[in-house]
Amino acid sequence: MRVLLVEDDPLLGDGVRAGLKLADYAVDWVRDGEAGRLALLDQTYDACVLDLGLPRRDGLSLLKDLRGRGNATPVLILTARDTSADKVSGLDAGADDYLVKPFDLAELQARLRALIRRAGGASTPTLSHAGVVLDPAAKRVSLDGQTVTLSAREFALLHDLLSHKNRIRARGELEESLYAWGEEVESNTVEVYIHHLRKKFGAEFIRTVRGLGYLVGEAG
Ligand code: CA
Repeated sequence: MRVLLVEDDPLLGDGVRAGLKLADYAVDWVRDGEAGRLALLDQTYDACVLDLGLPRRDGLSLLKDLRGRGNATPVLILTARDTSADKVSGLDAGADDYLVKPFDLAELQARLRALIRRAGGASTPTLSHAGVVLDPAAKRVSLDGQTVTLSAREFALLHDLLSHKNRIRARGELEESLYAWGEEVESNTVEVYIHHLRKKFGAEFIRTVRGLGYLVGEAG
């Protein structure tokens, strides 16, 4: 899962980025609204955490631009100003949720999980297929009721595939979901992790769709 963080406060931005990385998100952090707008033009994100008061372009303007282009990326706005007018204009401009600073990192993580889950069309907090159950909040995976231990990257890859169940994911999309800017991507990394997951969940659990990518479930 890849998240864009748009926040100009260095301390807060650093803390949020660290907290999201601990929760196994790949995080791209930009410090002004125009850089945020360009990042959202260039890259697909599972969610965006957006400060409202920003240099070069404020958060509301960025949000209106994004929705004006028909981009439905889930957006959680951060506001220091505890006024209902700010929240209302943010939600009216297309934000999906908001948090008032100062906020608790655990609450931010929980709200992001809920946003991403709803964007994927799921209403239950766990994702499952063929006896495999993934609980994003507990970071736990089981197969037929037995806990399976996964590395952080394996967990992130499985989370992505289950979040896009019945949809083919191209290798490039999976790489983008796993790695933030500046993180080195080795050439066959997705294949290696797919191989690990198949060893743990069975060869048929993840299907290869020749020339297109990988699939959990049935191609629609
Ligand atoms: Ca700010």
